[in-house]
This record gives sequence, structure tokens and C-alpha cells, in this order.
Amino acid sequence: MTCQLCTEASSYPLDRVIFSDANWILRHSAETDILGYLVLQSKRHFLDLSEATKDECTTYGGVLGSAMDCIREATECERVYTFSLAEAVPHFHVHIIPRSKDFNPQYKARGIMSYPTTPAANDGDVKKICAAMKELWII
Ligand SMILES: [Zn+2]
Repeated sequence: MTCQLCTEASSYPLDRVIFSDANWILRHSAETDILGYLVLQSKRHFLDLSEATKDECTTYGGVLGSAMDCIREATECERVYTFSLAEAVPHFHVHIIPRSKDFNPQYKARGIMSYPTTPAANDGDVKKICAAMKELWII
């Protein structure tokens, strides 16, 4: 079985990768036009945290917390949504999505699941916000 996330992990454009260590890759999403929408994924292939090592579980909180700090600093959001489904791609990854004040109400809360996955955000804007997030990154 070929896993999309395992395959792509080594080829993410570096200007879209906010953070990477032995366990985690944090990158800007290539889906939707929401600037600051990050995806945190495990480097190792596993489905969910019940299959994670102690070290992966321990470091997860710090990386996720820093990712949310970055989003709050770099975007004008009221909420930061996080969820992990692993239905389309059974490799552990968490969607971390800034929800701004002027967000269309139909996409608030659980409505975020129906947010259009295309078009993607403008590439120049994504690079700019990623650079800002890298400047803000503290773990
Ligand atoms: Zn995988």
C-alpha cells in the first residue's frame, strides 16, 4: 500500500514547511484558500496517537501548541480549529485552521468540514505567511 503522506513528506516545498524534527512535519496546507491553514503530520506512518511512541506523544503537545501560537500571531483569527480524521489518508495528521472574524457563517464550527478545498490560496501570499510563521516559531 502506498501512503500519500509518506510519499510526499520528502518533497514538500521548504518555503511551506514551518517546522520539522525527528517526529513531525508542520506545513502549510495546499488545500483551500485559507491563509495560515497548517497541517501537522507524523513522520512515521501510523493511524492515530494510540499507535504513537511515547516520544511522539510527548513532543506532539509542544509542536501543536507552538503551531497554534504561530497561527494566532500571524493571522487575525478568533478561533483555531484542530481536527484529525485520517479517513482519506490513513496517516496521522492534524488540520490546524484559523477561523477569522469575517468567516462565512456556513463554514463556522462543524461547517468547516464543507469548506471548499479549491481554489488554493495565492502562492505568494502563502509564502509570505509561512515566512512570518517561521520568524515567530518558538518551541
Ligand atoms: Zn504514511
